[in-house]
Amino acid sequence: MKAIYPGSFDPVTNGHLDIIQRAARVVDELVIAVLVNSDKKPLFTMDERMDMIREATKEIPNISVQSFTGLTVDFARENGAKVMVRGLRAVTDFESEMQIAQTNHSIEPGIETIFFTTSLEYSFLSSTIVKEIAHYGSDVSKLVPSVVEEAFHRKFGHSLH
Ligand code: ADP
Repeated sequence: MKAIYPGSFDPVTNGHLDIIQRAARVVDELVIAVLVNSDKKPLFTMDERMDMIREATKEIPNISVQSFTGLTVDFARENGAKVMVRGLRAVTDFESEMQIAQTNHSIEPGIETIFFTTSLEYSFLSSTIVKEIAHYGSDVSKLVPSVVEEAFHRKFGHSLH
């Protein structure tokens, strides 16, 4: 089974990595699909986001990282993936994730969305929150992999804790 895990990953957090590790144990091949998002202005470039994911997942053999634009279902179909992986943090994610999954299913009935519920310790974690904490120079070492912590350090010029 080949699956894609789509998202902005701006930047990848320990919450994403938790989903990635668990999904990689369930499927044969997991493509992490990094969205070129024209609406949001990302903090990190596409290359930076992809490099950080590659570094943080280098121990997991059945993973690859790619960028994509356009509809996620089109990317999945072009890559021969029948499954899309998403993470659910709290009830607040539920409504929008259900809408996305149902829309995708109506466009492409051959592709299923599988949800992984987040581990409790990461249920509050989002890329937005992590960026805010790092922006003010606070410690993000428990929230993101070290490659992301170092990238924040370079971006914001704060010293590491
Ligand atoms: P998007 O811009 O599509 O929301 P994100 O990079 O924020 O992309 O998230 C990608 C996926 O990872 C989404 O399914 C989101 O619910 C999930 N996710 C984000 N943070 C966490 C977390 N802390 N725990 C579990 N899943 C998460």
